[in-house]
Amino acid sequence: MASKELLEVVAETKKQLEHLRVLGVEGIQVSTAVAPAPIETRAPEPSAAAEPLTTLFGDLAPAPAKLQRSTETFEQIHAEIGDCTRCPLHQERTHVVHTEGNRKARLMFVGEAPGADEDAQARPFVGRAGQLLTKIIEAIGLKREEVLIGNVNRCRPPMNRAPMPDEAATCKPFLLREIAAAQPEVIVVLGNTAMKNLLDTREGITRLRGTFQDYKGIKVMPTFHPAYLLRDPSKKRETWEDLKKVRDYLDSHRSDSC
Ligand code: URA
Repeated sequence: MASKELLEVVAETKKQLEHLRVLGVEGIQVSTAVAPAPIETRAPEPSAAAEPLTTLFGDLAPAPAKLQRSTETFEQIHAEIGDCTRCPLHQERTHVVHTEGNRKARLMFVGEAPGADEDAQARPFVGRAGQLLTKIIEAIGLKREEVLIGNVNRCRPPMNRAPMPDEAATCKPFLLREIAAAQPEVIVVLGNTAMKNLLDTREGITRLRGTFQDYKGIKVMPTFHPAYLLRDPSKKRETWEDLKKVRDYLDSHRSDSC
């Protein structure tokens, strides 16, 4: 193989490995054998190593995966996204809408996907729902520029439909890489799509909202999407209760240096 080709293969492999690391893969099996391994057609026999470790105090549960700090910059991530055509949503978008805000933020908000205003302005949450989100942020004593705001998908779905699972799965790794780079202390997931994608849960927003969840050691607060609040303002009271919990958590975990 020519050395240029080899370098390209190495660079691509590094990218794929970084992608897998962000998705939580902590190791892969490699083999030096040339012949392909036979495909396992039945579940492997449980090996001693796979059995739960026991101690004097009982079974040891595996430690929950912690998010590894990444040294990537948002600029590097956005450059890699480029003029993205990885999923069909690129066909009707005007702009790719990246996460924006303070890269050192303690608090991040994650929504679903851009709407018409966001697609036109290349900025997340700038339409009516975005204006309500800005008010929500201000209600807990912060300015919009002090937090991070992003979406699971960066291209507007036609007719503002929810992104399909494969569209979300294609775009989400970039959001996870931004989260690994910024390491916010709390992430507020806005609505079902954002919650299900970050937490990998089958539960609905009505059940989980208002209770802190975990994403690899980061506190996650699910709450209603501001677009839903515009349709049903009676849900603003519960959203306010959820956001007060976020404010109280941040206030009580303020480090001395802040
Ligand atoms: N709704 C979202 O989920 N994200 C936006 O950026 C705008 C509206």
